[in-house]
Amino acid sequence: MKSVISLLDYKEFPELNVKGICIHDTGNSLVGADALWHARYLNTQHAKNRGVSWHFSVDEIQSVQHLPIDKAGKHAGRIANETTIGIEICVNSDSDIEQSHINGALLTAKLLYITGLPISSVAQHFDYTGKNCPELMRSGIPFTWEKFIDQVQSYLSAENITNGVREITPFLEKSMSEIV
Ligand SMILES: [Zn+2]
Repeated sequence: MKSVISLLDYKEFPELNVKGICIHDTGNSLVGADALWHARYLNTQHAKNRGVSWHFSVDEIQSVQHLPIDKAGKHAGRIANETTIGIEICVNSDSDIEQSHINGALLTAKLLYITGLPISSVAQHFDYTGKNCPELMRSGIPFTWEKFIDQVQSYLSAENITNGVREITPFLEKSMSEIV
């Protein structure tokens, strides 16, 4: 999985006291609505008017980082916003949705590794606000939440999670791009 960076203008964003990872899916089945599409979306007036932001979008090919992990986004209500890294898994209809979810599990494992957070800190958007999100996984597509967590655990246990990690910075701007 490639890791690329397309940062928002985050200077005014509040600090994030990271205690967990909040998993979403985009709910956006539009053709072409992949991770880079969402990176562009976050810079639109529409997104700014909605006041939404999150840390990573991930699709079948790559993860795109939008915020440093010490800045708080707005993706799942106050408690989640103030304490979690937000990941949006892409579900565009022209993509391999299973691979996007596998990449989401890999990204989650990398973030647990980097932050030192336990796997028990990974939660659904639903757990914070009751919204039916990540909607596909909550209906067992392409696999269940339990299988997703199992995959995160297996990536976390695998030696290859550490391969390619050369430098870990609090901001994670540079280091993520170095994690293969
Ligand atoms: Zn969500």
